[in-house]
Amino acid sequence: MSNSTAFSQNYLNHSVTKVQASIIQATAHPISRGDISNHALKVLAGLHDAGYDSYLVGGCVRDLMLGREPKDFDVATNALPEEVRRVFKNCRLIGRRFRLAHVYFGREIIEVATYRAPPGKADSSDKAAKTGNTKDSEVHLADDSGRILRDNVYGTLEEDAVRRDFTINALYYNYANDEISDFVGGFDDLKNGLIKIIGDPETRYREDPVRMLRAIRFASKLGLKIDQKSEAPIKELSVLLADVPAARKFEEVLKLFHGGAALNTFEALRHADLFQYLFPQAELCLSREVGHFPAVLIPLALRNTDNRIQEGKPVTPAFLLAVMLWGSALEEAERLVAKGANHQDALRSAASHVLRKQSQHTSIPKRFTGMMREMWMMQSRFAFRNGQRAFRLMEHQRFRAAYDFLCLRSESGEIDDELCKWWTLFQEVDMDERKEMIDTLPPGPGKRRNRKKRPSSKEKNFNV
Ligand code: ATP
Ligand code: MG
Repeated sequence: MSNSTAFSQNYLNHSVTKVQASIIQATAHPISRGDISNHALKVLAGLHDAGYDSYLVGGCVRDLMLGREPKDFDVATNALPEEVRRVFKNCRLIGRRFRLAHVYFGREIIEVATYRAPPGKADSSDKAAKTGNTKDSEVHLADDSGRILRDNVYGTLEEDAVRRDFTINALYYNYANDEISDFVGGFDDLKNGLIKIIGDPETRYREDPVRMLRAIRFASKLGLKIDQKSEAPIKELSVLLADVPAARKFEEVLKLFHGGAALNTFEALRHADLFQYLFPQAELCLSREVGHFPAVLIPLALRNTDNRIQEGKPVTPAFLLAVMLWGSALEEAERLVAKGANHQDALRSAASHVLRKQSQHTSIPKRFTGMMREMWMMQSRFAFRNGQRAFRLMEHQRFRAAYDFLCLRSESGEIDDELCKWWTLFQEVDMDERKEMIDTLPPGPGKRRNRKKRPSSKEKNFNV
């Protein structure tokens, strides 16, 4: 039996038998139109008035049910992308394989997706005839492990529901009558705080291993529990993440650690053996150095990130990535120093080495690797404060991030906290006091007694 045949035979029962929707009346759920963004309402109304189905679906329905503010609003419809484009002037079609319509309202984008069918299913929608999209073998493609490579068969509303990942993500809010259609028991699962994958867990994780990360993300962020059957295969299948493209894993890393629950997420990812496929170098450091600073630094930084997000402060992925990889960069730099390199050069080469290795697992855009390097290289400059140096350093574009990083390092016990305290005070006081602080610096790397003798870069230490 070919893999793809086994794959489709294995597929969820839902796609074989017709699924009946439970309808939750408008009075029996908490979502009201006032909770929905005006732009999403415009799109829903536009589709409805043009005679198409018009539903909100996915994370927005889930979040509204939980009383949380949705990140974005996704719309599902039986209109084809080209038909959606005809309804809205401010609309662009995106995606090569599976076309989606984006309706633009300034910075807000409402994504409109035509119902899709699960893999192993030929197009049974009333659109099939129009698009000629009926041969499943041509449009659903899976690799040897069952991973879906192409996924572009239009389907019915029921089919669209069962191809989604978790039951709580497959609730449809109908604009026409404010009812919610639930084909897979998501309403009850949400009430019971359960994350349940739709269909056979192993098949669904094989189709798309990122679903394992998503399960952890939703559980940690929303305070829900992963259903026992959905959780059971994760450890064994975690290795499938190795084959997921690095760019997709990077996108997922951003969502995992910038969702306001980074610390919980990190712990759950490690517990499920998934973290090692995102940051193998960090995992190695953590497992080797239990009780040592990376084990403290990373959780501290994640808690810090969570607090910043809760306070509405900006966060940059570069900071988090710099923290994740710092232990590995230092280890590599120390290895190079032992071979005779000076500290600055060693750290520079170590940064390249560590970033190159990481890019095989999560691709990191250049603008972030640049910031990470700067933050790392600035660490040794904090000790050299005499003359104009402290003032110059403070003007550096990356000063604030590098200073925050320095303080986290001292909080984690990696370095003495004198330096962080000094720089904290230096930023708070006026100009005269700043000059005074520099004049009264204790001798050491921060102040040279003999001005004629420049310290060789070998004497500098990135661990100051
Ligand atoms: P959030 O936007 O808050 O991160 P979300 O559930 O809306 O959560 P999205 O990535 O925006 O996540 O996806 C929207 C919806 O698309 C999901 O709720 C789910 O129904 C479906 N979906 C997303 N990714 C997958 C996937 N890998 N497999 C199956 N369905 C998916
Ligand atoms: Mg979403």
